[in-house]
Amino acid sequence: EKRMILKNKRAVITGGSDGIGFGIAKAFAENGADVLLVARNETKLAEAAAVLAAFEVEVKTLSADLSDLSTIQKTAQSILEIWPAIDILVNNAGIARFIPFAETDEAALDLHLNLNVKATYFLTQHLFGALEAQKGCVLNISSYFSHRMLPGRPSTAYSLTKGAMDAFTKSLAYEAGAKGVRVNAIAPGTINTPLVQANIDRLSEEGKAKFSEMIKTIYPLGRVGESEDVSGAAVFLASDAARWITGAILAVDGGLTTN
Ligand code: NDP
Repeated sequence: EKRMILKNKRAVITGGSDGIGFGIAKAFAENGADVLLVARNETKLAEAAAVLAAFEVEVKTLSADLSDLSTIQKTAQSILEIWPAIDILVNNAGIARFIPFAETDEAALDLHLNLNVKATYFLTQHLFGALEAQKGCVLNISSYFSHRMLPGRPSTAYSLTKGAMDAFTKSLAYEAGAKGVRVNAIAPGTINTPLVQANIDRLSEEGKAKFSEMIKTIYPLGRVGESEDVSGAAVFLASDAARWITGAILAVDGGLTTN
């Protein structure tokens, strides 16, 4: 019989309706956690919730645009109305656009800052009391792009926000430790998700061929990851097995950053 290491835990997962966030939601539910998915598109949320209904856990959804900072407090309140106590917050919703530095205008930078950094910061702040009451934990989904760049992927705007997430992870871990709240991050390598597919779709035919050749050479494990390759690490970091781990940024990247 499988050990349910997240049984009786309640997890809020931003961007939980698709990609890495959905993979994490599924793995959490498999391990006994109740899950609340936050994303914009209600149809996608309902589809994700329907899949998760197969597990014997509570599944909730909330439609919200986290990049709209004027409503982030309201979003947090809606979450607390669903669950006044929270054990796990996964800050996963994020945006990645690859734009040359010279062409990155303020709107493009703000697109990344608002969702990846500010929404993460203030959602965590507004939910902190609910996490503290449970001696809970925060898991930020960062990226290797905070410190490792790739040819043909100009990433100043994106990388800046992921570097901020890494620093936020460590600085909040330092401050929150005394309150019994752990804060960690996962830095995934390239994961086969709608976000990555959309970026590949924007490349020329030649660019696509180069990209797939590059993947084979730069990944020691020889392939990109799937969401399921990330979710095991998320389950571990969110569980009591990781009770003395805080401020860690765990590379889950097929060995990319050894290179
Ligand atoms: P996807 O685009 O595949 O999924 C994003 C999820 O976030 C969806 O559920 C989406 O739902 C939701 N979302 C997007 N924008 C908002 C918003 N404004 N408000 C609320 N929810 C939103 O992304 P990935 O799974 O690829 O990426 C998830 C995280 O992992 C990101 O932080 C990304 O930077 C990071 N990452 C991804 C890598 C990869 O290779 N895929 C590699 C390293 C890190 P909806 O559109 O309905 O709102």
